[in-house]
Amino acid sequence: MATETKPTLPLPDQSSSTAMLSSEPSDTGVASLSYQQRYYLANKEAILARTKKRHKEVYEQDTERRKAYYQSHRNEYRKRYQRYKAEKLLANPTSPKPSREDYRQRKLARTKAWTLANPEKYKAMKKAWADANPDRIKAYDKDKAHKRRSSKMDTSTRKERKAMIDWLESWSMKKSVKCYWCLKKHKPSNCHLDHIAPLSKGGSHTLGNVCIACAECNMHKHSKHPSEWNKEIDQPVLMLESV
Ligand SMILES: [Zn+2]
Repeated sequence: MATETKPTLPLPDQSSSTAMLSSEPSDTGVASLSYQQRYYLANKEAILARTKKRHKEVYEQDTERRKAYYQSHRNEYRKRYQRYKAEKLLANPTSPKPSREDYRQRKLARTKAWTLANPEKYKAMKKAWADANPDRIKAYDKDKAHKRRSSKMDTSTRKERKAMIDWLESWSMKKSVKCYWCLKKHKPSNCHLDHIAPLSKGGSHTLGNVCIACAECNMHKHSKHPSEWNKEIDQPVLMLESV
């Protein structure tokens, strides 16, 4: 005849967690674990450290393979990144995207802060650069001087200013250059930057209105309007700017 009483379940051993790791297994806990499981519990930290070390080694040895993988899946990575960016923008549409100019301004601010914090280093760097680039410095100064004389407001972009300085530097380094007015060859040291339409008559200091003039022509022309000056030279020139 069966008894009506329910079999009592043994309560799990909660006396202490160390019982799980004890070398003498109790009936309720560790005994039910396999040898491997008991070994793992007893040496968990050492095993984890070893695994981590091994992963790191494999990761470091595998750099080339990972690079190759990235190269062959570049488009997918790129698409994933674009998707990520689009989703981010969708989630926060009002977040303003910094413009190229913003980045430039930030970089300038960082540079400025650095130069203020390291005045001696900055001075030394500036001097080293100037010593290594004397022609560039001369071209820069020339451009600046003409800009000051110009009655027109300077609206040139950074790109245009760079082009002007490049041009000034390029001919100042040549053996000889041709004068725009007399068409004779001269040493660059005997030539000047000249404005086809003079600055005093409203000409601009832009690449479209500058030329190389020998000292003689420059002196004779002075600030004559090109239409007037054209009568005095052998080969009249075309005016690009109307002043
Ligand atoms: Zn000349």
